[in-house]
This record gives sequence, C-alpha cells and structure tokens, in this order.
Amino acid sequence: MKALWFDPAEMLIGGEWMAGAARLDVEDPSSTDIIAQISRGQTGDIDKAVEAAENALVGDWGRMPAFERGRILARLGQMVLERAEDLALIEAMDVGKPLDQARADARALARYLEFYGGAADKVMGETIPFQDGYTVYTLREPHGVTGHIIPWNYPMQIIGRSVGAALAMGNACVLKPAEEACLTALAFARLAVEAGLPDGALNVVTGLGEEAGAALASHSGVHHISFTGSVGVGSLIQQSAARHIVPVTLELGGKSPQLVFEDADLDQALPFLVGAGIQNAGQTCSAASRILVHEDLFETVRDRMAERYAELKIGPAVNNLDVGPLISARQKEIVEGFLAQVEADRIVGQATGIPHSGHFVAPTLISGITPDHPLAQQEIFGPVQVLLPFRDEAEAVRIANGTDFGLVAGVWTRDGGRQMRLARALRAGQVFINNYGAGGGVELPFGGVGKSGHGREKGFEALYGFSTLKTVAAHHG
Ligand code: NAP
Ligand code: MG
Repeated sequence: MKALWFDPAEMLIGGEWMAGAARLDVEDPSSTDIIAQISRGQTGDIDKAVEAAENALVGDWGRMPAFERGRILARLGQMVLERAEDLALIEAMDVGKPLDQARADARALARYLEFYGGAADKVMGETIPFQDGYTVYTLREPHGVTGHIIPWNYPMQIIGRSVGAALAMGNACVLKPAEEACLTALAFARLAVEAGLPDGALNVVTGLGEEAGAALASHSGVHHISFTGSVGVGSLIQQSAARHIVPVTLELGGKSPQLVFEDADLDQALPFLVGAGIQNAGQTCSAASRILVHEDLFETVRDRMAERYAELKIGPAVNNLDVGPLISARQKEIVEGFLAQVEADRIVGQATGIPHSGHFVAPTLISGITPDHPLAQQEIFGPVQVLLPFRDEAEAVRIANGTDFGLVAGVWTRDGGRQMRLARALRAGQVFINNYGAGGGVELPFGGVGKSGHGREKGFEALYGFSTLKTVAAHHG
C-alpha cells in the first residue's frame, strides 16, 4: 500500500520496533483484498510492553515536566496534521471508511493532541482549609501504566481521546488496537517516536482480543484500563480488572435516539437525522439508530428521510462516497441477521446500487415496529435506522429511555422549556439540542450510563479519569 511508509508487522515496545512470532492478514473491506500483514502479539509481548512502560515511568518520561509532555503532544498533533492525507488513505483502505470521514478522524486526532498537549500543565490540585497547624493539599498523579483496548470503528479518534489524555497526565500506555484496524495505530506510534516521546511511554501490541487483549486486561502491572468496545467484552474487561482492583473506563455501545417534536425545524434536522445513522456505515457507538417523531410530523419525516436514503451513494472507501462497506464479513452477517427479523413491508427507505464485492449492506430505514422490537432495542452497528412515532413529550421520553443503553440523545424542538426538561429527563451521557454530535467536539466529556458504560473520556474531564488524587496533610504546629 503506497501510503504505508513503514512495516506494519512491527510493534512498538520500549522504543524498539519488533515483529511478533506470528502474523495476521489485513483485509481491505471495500475489496476483500489482503493489503498487509500485522503481528499477532502474544502474552509475552504484552509482558514486555508493560515492563517497558514501568521503566518509562521511573525514567525520562516519569521525570519529564508536564509542560514538556504537553509540548511533545502538541508537536505530535502538528505531525498528524501534516500526514493527515496518508493517515486518511491508510484508514480508508484498512477499515473501509470513505476518505472524507477518514480525513475528519485524522483531524480529530490532531485536535485531541493539541487539546491535551495544551492541558498537560493545567491540571492542578487544591489547598484545603483544615485545622490550625496543618497545611492540606491535593496532588493529581498519573495512575502509572494504563492499558488501552480500542475498537475498529474510529481508531484515530479513540487513540486521541484515550492515549492522548493518558499521556498528558504522565501515564505510560500500552495500546492494543482492534485486530481489524491496526494500521493507523502503528502509524501514530511511528509519529510519536519521531515527535520525541521517550521510549516506553507508548507501546503498541497488535493481535487478537482473546490473546493480546485479554493478556493486557488481566496483567497485574496495569493500573488503569480504558476499554472501548462491545458490552460483552466490556464486562469481561471489568471482571479481569476486578481481580487486581484496577479502575476501568468502559465506553460501550448505544441505541441512541433523536427526538423530533412537532415544532422542529425539519430542514435543519434532516441532514442530522440521516447523517448520524449512516456515518461510518452506521458503525458508530453514538449512531442515531432510533428516530422518534411526533405523530403529526411522522409521515413527513418518514418520506423525507426515505428520499435521502434513495439518494445515498455507496461504494469503495477510496471513491469517497456517502457510505462504504462494513468492516468484515462477520459484521455484514450480523447486520443482515437483524434485517431478516423484519418483514419486507417494514422497509420504508433503502439505498440502491450496492457493490457486489466487499462487505456492503444497503442503508435501510425501518418503520412500523414497536419500541420493544429487537431492532428498536439492540445495537445493530450497521446502516439501519428505526422510526418510532410518539404522541406527547411523556411518551417520547419513555420510549427514548426504554433501552438498556444511555450514550447520546438528540432533541429537535423550538420550545425552550421543553429543551431544558428533556436535557434533564433523557438518560444519556450527552444530550444535543437542535444538533447531534456537535461535530465530535473533543472538548466535550463523553461516555455512557447503563450498558453504555461508565467513566468519561474527551474534554478536560478525561484528565481526571486518567489520574488519581492524593491528599497531603502536613502538621507543622
Ligand atoms: P469488541 O469486540 O468488544 O472489541 C473491542 C476491542 O476489544 C478490540 O480491540 C478487541 O480486539 C478487544 N477484545 C476482544 N475480545 C477481548 C477479550 N476477551 N479481552 C480483551 N480484549 C478483547 O468490539 P467491536 O465489535 O470491535 O466494536 C464495536 C463495539 O464497540 C460496539 O458495541 C460499539 O458501540 C462499541 N464502541 C463504543 C464506543 C464508545 O465510545 N462508547 C466507540 C466505538 C465503539 P480484536 O478486535 O482484535 O479481537
Ligand atoms: Mg482491515
């Protein structure tokens, strides 16, 4: 692959590039061609990476002043921007993400590094008024070695928000990217070394979740685990961490709703209603997979969304159309399995012109199912949206909150009182009023409630999550 300027079979451990004992093929989901090979890291590689991270903490990295850490991250952000086109092309070929969406991910990675680079020397403790003869203050300290296990859908963004924040706080990181999306993680690591990140501050071990991932999650030398992925694996991670009493951040799935009230500005809403469902072929944790619409507007919204579905262009990621393929044959099978659970007449909008090779699924809009139907309850992780009508605000909130998840919600209404009521009533980590996603906002704390997980990443809040608070009480009389 032309954009790949390094050997992806080499992992970064303790500042050294090393190949593992075995290999895994890298598939381009747009064509199913094998385009590269990565290493299949093993427990021994994770052991070495954790040891390298421990060494970094007692070495140059651990002694580095916060502003120097910030400077390296800012430099790295600049380098990511300079290489954004290469990174986007690598991502497009590795995960099937249309080029413009991959470019946005590269820019977001750069923004995270700028944001956390600038924040590194601005996380402060407090002095606490206490009894006479004491001085009491708090220190924000890194956890130590942080483990980062990330999925394949937004590798660059998730590296930015988790590794970026962890490094800013002075942790030493071991990153295990998803088997199906390692190339930009490895590219990022190459740039990090060039930017001057000391040996061992960032280690990247590629491989399988059940092997390298499980070894990282259960390693006794890891002091914090940041996991982004499915509910099932998230639960395993939390169980592994519990054995060593290690804190975890779990960023899991969602079944996020957008609520469209009778006074909504439909022209403003429509691009977000569809866009947030089909972005990255619906493989987005915060995808708006449920569209709840007031009954007076229901048919209008259904028809206008269906028109947009009919106009969607689907094709290989490098062709930079609206929708690319799904990540894998397995993911395509999962999504088709969901679609097989509804009768054909429930499909009210569908894209056409779907390529035959590659893991493509036609974006599909569903109506006429009840809120308790599996397609309205479970995360599909494909370009499928479900329309659900509601009668009034109370019913809208009941349906919106009626899943196991609580990641993101969007509300479209001009009524200021309703905006405020819904912002409180909706069970979600983020609520967007008359927008959805706020352009990804690196500054905005993000995370879930319920089965969407716990802990917050992004924004300044993440810096608290990637650090621990020490209280110092000095008695001096
Ligand atoms: P996944 O199967 O849970 O995989 C996530 C990561 O965990 C991958 O790196 C995977 O490695 C690793 N893994 C798998 N089994 C493991 C094990 N036994 N021990 C340790 N690590 C293991 O999730 P996915 O299917 O890749 O991603 C889709 C899910 O992620 C969706 O549910 C989506 O909603 C969620 N997600 C959430 C957010 C958020 O911020 N809330 C963002 C993006 C995605 P391998 O892939 O190499 O096996
Ligand atoms: Mg791939």
